[in-house]
Amino acid sequence: MRSVALLSLFPALLAGPAAAAGFSDCVEALRNASLRAGVSRAIVAQALAINAPDEKVLRLSQVQPEFKFAIWDYLAFLVDERRVGDGRAMMARYDRVLRAAEQRFGVDRHVIAAVWGVESDYGRDAGDNFLPHALATLACAGGGRTRFWRSELMAALTLVQRGDLRLDKLYGSWAGAFGQTQFMPTTYQRLAIDFDGDGRRDLVNSVADSLGSTANFLRRAGWRPGEPWMLEVRVPQGYAGPTGRRNKASLAAWARRGVVRADGRPLTGNAQAGLLLPAGPRGPGFLVFRNFDAIYAYNTAESYGIAISHLADRLAGHPRLHTPWPTDDPGLSRDEQRRLQELLAAKGYDVGKIDGKIGQQTRAAIAEAEKRLGWPPTGRPGQKIYRALGGR
Ligand code: CA
Repeated sequence: MRSVALLSLFPALLAGPAAAAGFSDCVEALRNASLRAGVSRAIVAQALAINAPDEKVLRLSQVQPEFKFAIWDYLAFLVDERRVGDGRAMMARYDRVLRAAEQRFGVDRHVIAAVWGVESDYGRDAGDNFLPHALATLACAGGGRTRFWRSELMAALTLVQRGDLRLDKLYGSWAGAFGQTQFMPTTYQRLAIDFDGDGRRDLVNSVADSLGSTANFLRRAGWRPGEPWMLEVRVPQGYAGPTGRRNKASLAAWARRGVVRADGRPLTGNAQAGLLLPAGPRGPGFLVFRNFDAIYAYNTAESYGIAISHLADRLAGHPRLHTPWPTDDPGLSRDEQRRLQELLAAKGYDVGKIDGKIGQQTRAAIAEAEKRLGWPPTGRPGQKIYRALGGR
């Protein structure tokens, strides 16, 4: 049973029968639009047998993220040693297809693999929301962007109609991205390719189609074959010069501003790059090239671009970041996050499901544990609370 506090997040559900009728009418309109778009009655009937919003999708779409990740937390679990190790194993296993994608599209295979690793943990975790219901919920009860969600739904059903995908395999994130490399349906329509040659574009089941399509996406987003994507650098103490992905200058110009490689070696060359200092001038600096912008197009967050770029470097055998993050409380890997949940649960805190994913319940438990230690309650899963509870 849902608590009152949680219900207050769902004005649509509290509105009662009128809202329910509104939802049914809206879904009926979606059914008709799908038929007009050429989707068969059988597919439409199966896909849109829904008479109330998907509550999990509503909850995820309406709860404002009150917690912002520090960049070092974000990288700690996205580029943890398990993802690096798994990635190297998967790159060996799919070497032929990765090299074929690299050859055809010119995109570095380590970057293709890094996107796969971050988006779905190399195909292991591509989301468990039934996409037609998620998209119908967002279109009819999402509180905005109705046309956007509606066109994504039409695109998804059209892919099923064309035989690219099976309806019963159409599961993904609550916000509509799906498959091993998490394409939105309209992006899938435009850019997915059949890379294993079976006549279908199947980013759910085919690793080859997924990796080929990701390479195609990055190439179309402006990837330049043979050029770098990111380089860790150091800036002079107290640096207050230009920064920003778009503020590009030649490596020679950065060298004149006192920027050097992270290991102290000088910058050389004429490639154009912008400077990112995600934790200020005392933390790691990154020169990001045109190819970083192609990665950014995949998911428009600089922290995402840094995670993909660094994971790609690690998969290629490069070391961890040279400069430490300016914090005395670094973030946790996924294994450490799960262990933290176990340690909290063993001490009687309610963390919800022990799944290695830090949600609101785990944060509340962390805050309680911090209070009991006499610390300010932050709810943040970091090394300090992890060690205080016995993690190692
Ligand atoms: Ca295929």
